[in-house]
Amino acid sequence: MNCPRCGNELDTRSTAGIAAAICGRCAGAWLHKDDLERAVRLFATEQGIVLKTLTLLEGPARDTTLPCPQCSTLLQRLTLRGVEVERCAVCQGVFLDAGEGRALAQRAVLAAGEWDRAYQTLLRTVRTWATPAPEPWLLDAGDFTSSGHGTID
Ligand SMILES: [Zn+2]
Ligand SMILES: [Zn+2]
Repeated sequence: MNCPRCGNELDTRSTAGIAAAICGRCAGAWLHKDDLERAVRLFATEQGIVLKTLTLLEGPARDTTLPCPQCSTLLQRLTLRGVEVERCAVCQGVFLDAGEGRALAQRAVLAAGEWDRAYQTLLRTVRTWATPAPEPWLLDAGDFTSSGHGTID
């Protein structure tokens, strides 16, 4: 398999169940989109964040003249979370230039992290509404009726 960017032979590696073909010359990486998602999740875990959902926010695809390293179909260029990547519509492989994988993971994790915080705040608010603190007059109701001041009798 050759690098779609510079033509160099790709070096296949596997770390933590994530397989990627790395280019030793331009430091680009070719990996299946499932492996890309796994890599982003792993990155998130390393930051202490568990991603419940992972949205890579895909932009519109444009044609390129770069061949897919696996099937030679011309790759499409698109943005994932604002990071420009190349993808094969046939193999579902994604090519990331040096640093793009990290940028993508950081943006995905940051977005999820912020959403998580907002979600936690929402949960706390809903819980407060659902179980309001008892008003003082409610707690005193028993005393009120037994003390003879009421109109129940
Ligand atoms: Zn390369
Ligand atoms: Zn392909």
